Amino acid sequence: MTSNEYMTMADENLIHTYNRFPVVLDHGEGVYLYDHEGKKYLDFAAGIAVFALGYHHPAFTEGVKAQMDQIIHTSNLFYSKPLAEAAKKLCEVAGMDKVFFTNSGTEAIEGAIKLAKKYAFLKDGSVDHEIIAMNHSFHGRSMGALAVTGNKHYQEAFGPMIPGIRFADYNDLASVEALVNEKTCAIILETVQGEGGIRPATKEFLTGIRNICDEKDILLILDEIQCGYGRTGTMFAFEQYGIRPDVLTVAKALGCGIPVGAFLASGKCAEALVPGDHGTTYGGNPLATAAVNQVLDIFANEGIVSYAKAIAPYLWENLESLKDEFAVIKDHRGLGLIQGLEFDESLPVGKVVSAAIERGLIVISASGNVLRFVPPLVITRENIDEMMEKLKDAISSVM
Ligand SMILES: *Cc1c(COP(=O)(O)O)cnc(C)c1O
Repeated sequence: MTSNEYMTMADENLIHTYNRFPVVLDHGEGVYLYDHEGKKYLDFAAGIAVFALGYHHPAFTEGVKAQMDQIIHTSNLFYSKPLAEAAKKLCEVAGMDKVFFTNSGTEAIEGAIKLAKKYAFLKDGSVDHEIIAMNHSFHGRSMGALAVTGNKHYQEAFGPMIPGIRFADYNDLASVEALVNEKTCAIILETVQGEGGIRPATKEFLTGIRNICDEKDILLILDEIQCGYGRTGTMFAFEQYGIRPDVLTVAKALGCGIPVGAFLASGKCAEALVPGDHGTTYGGNPLATAAVNQVLDIFANEGIVSYAKAIAPYLWENLESLKDEFAVIKDHRGLGLIQGLEFDESLPVGKVVSAAIERGLIVISASGNVLRFVPPLVITRENIDEMMEKLKDAISSVM
């Protein structure tokens, strides 16, 4: 069958929630992907910040395969070795007390919201608590996560949202302070907004929120589903701000492609959820947690986080030079290996993305006409040079 036939087959049968690029991906090797026709692509999207280790990493693949031969599912009515190990390792690297494994990012957010509500309920017995979230945030597509996602368009047709969610402006501490009251049980934000246009929190903003939370016993939920896991040059982005969250959500790179997410909690709130409060059939199954273990072992053995930290400035310099070269690029933002170039409205980034893909470079967009760079953490200088060459050509072709 040809690529076109596969695409037609997919379009005829899939609910049309995505406009896909006309590429049928076949396999990957390192930071390169190959399509059904054998065309090669340099991948600066990593399956949306998932494939931190690059494709077909031998230890990862072997570890996951070995688990498949052993056992892949047990339900949470039983223990498994990979589950126990992954819980210990993940709590350790995150510096958190307890973890709950989910199947996705959006489910990690659902769990974090429930934990915050339960924690507040235990204190005053009421169920009218409020959560402060941020405009231009992205936390996922299930109803709870959607309710805290500051994007009117995503919410529009799906009301009513869960009540008690208030939206403040990111990096505007006064706008958060104005919404805090005795009902506030949590403040949720991404340490670096991803989907919303690649915006790192300012130090003043994040430490200010931490102070509010400490004063009023409000839980700080940091969503590091996209920006966490080494991407910013530290295991978690919050480490660079000198603060800690009460609740942390992770997914994307957590299983490097095996679907798994998690929310972690620290301190008193880590005991808020008890048997009967929350559950999942698949969450934390041996296959998923074996992937979590492999990824964490490889991160440690290969120094992935310090490598990402060391290579990121080279990407930064290169994208800065691009900003100087093309007047149509208005801004360059990011932290570590999550960076964005904001284009003038006169050039929709979708056109740049398509032109890049034609040239064998995969980049993706983010809201606000931003070109998003979330490559595998193992990219090299040579890969960045190759990306620059292809991207310059792509931008020039659509101007
Ligand atoms: C991707 C993402 C989510 C949702 O994760 P899914 O696995 O797609 O449900 C939540 N928060 C952030 C910051 C994300 O980038």
